Amino acid sequence: MESFDKIISINNWFDKPLDSPLYIAGPCSAETEEQIINTASEISKNSKINVFRAGLWKPRTRPNTFEGVGNKGLPWLKKVKEKYGLLIAVEVANPEHVALCLENNIDVLWIGARTVSNPFSIQEMAKSLANVQIPVLIKNPVNPDIDLWIGAIERFYNNGVYKLAALHRGFYPFERTIFRNIPKWEIPIELKIKLPLLPVICDPSHIAGTTKFIEEISQKALDLNFDGLMIETHINPKQALSDSQQQLTPKQLNELLSRLIVRDVSSNDTEFSKLLSNYRSQIDSLDFQLLELLAQRMKVVEKIGEYKSLNNVKILQLPRWENIIGTRTEYGKSRGLSEEFITKLLQLVHKESIQKQTEIMSKSKI
Ligand code: PEP
Ligand code: MN
Repeated sequence: MESFDKIISINNWFDKPLDSPLYIAGPCSAETEEQIINTASEISKNSKINVFRAGLWKPRTRPNTFEGVGNKGLPWLKKVKEKYGLLIAVEVANPEHVALCLENNIDVLWIGARTVSNPFSIQEMAKSLANVQIPVLIKNPVNPDIDLWIGAIERFYNNGVYKLAALHRGFYPFERTIFRNIPKWEIPIELKIKLPLLPVICDPSHIAGTTKFIEEISQKALDLNFDGLMIETHINPKQALSDSQQQLTPKQLNELLSRLIVRDVSSNDTEFSKLLSNYRSQIDSLDFQLLELLAQRMKVVEKIGEYKSLNNVKILQLPRWENIIGTRTEYGKSRGLSEEFITKLLQLVHKESIQKQTEIMSKSKI
């Protein structure tokens, strides 16, 4: 895979280096000039906020809902930039939007979750931006497909766009959950492991779907070393034409930002380093013990496989599996492990065991 080593660090995106994570705030959609100016005027009073966001062209799930004011909002955003000195971010979904944003000196572009799922749109936009160093934030696709996400990033990168960041907004849940979109933190973490130079920003508003969980999600993102947050903020959320449930007032946003703790990546304190390395050696040793035990378990599974094969007995024994799940879950829970974790772990082990026994059975047939 591409090494992505030309990606430009978020600290070098703008004229002024950032002195905190990148904070982006503003309404889901631009609705009226008054709404934009009043929201921006309040937001600009908080010096931590670097970028003002507003959607002009809204990709809505269903037709006959508010689809944004379109080009009409561009002069409003220009005013925000001139009057309040905020950088401006707008969502783009096609090369026409990109051209309009460049003509109107928009500072940051973002690609919405629905658009990222369409490689044709992404390719066209990436081509239309060839070698232009405007920051582009790429939301995760609606479905948890990390390759599709990386693919979109790669298309911009291959066209010489190097101020790139991933924008994590959660994934569509098939069943109702407390969140509008499930965070699935393991996916942005895997992205960080695969593309260590790529900045990752969190959009807690679209994960939460309600104002209630925004702070908790934001703090978690910062603790996971995300590079910034994009938080929907509206002068009067109740009257918002889109995403009214999840938008904060500028006052709520100020309070939230003042409560967030930006922890250090590491510490120079030698006492802390010693303790950490001590704990890490414990983890190292436990990991090897875990692998050793799993290997031993698998050897026994193989023996059972041979025995079943010899006696013509089926691999899958449901009562046994149910017994394993029941007894292990109970034990694991009493040791402080969550039911979800125990079930997932056992399912993985069971799948591998079945795989091993299937190999043994099919070999014995030859
Ligand atoms: C938005 O940021 O307002 C938006 C449309 O988000 P998403 O693409 O994440 O649904
Ligand atoms: Mn929105």
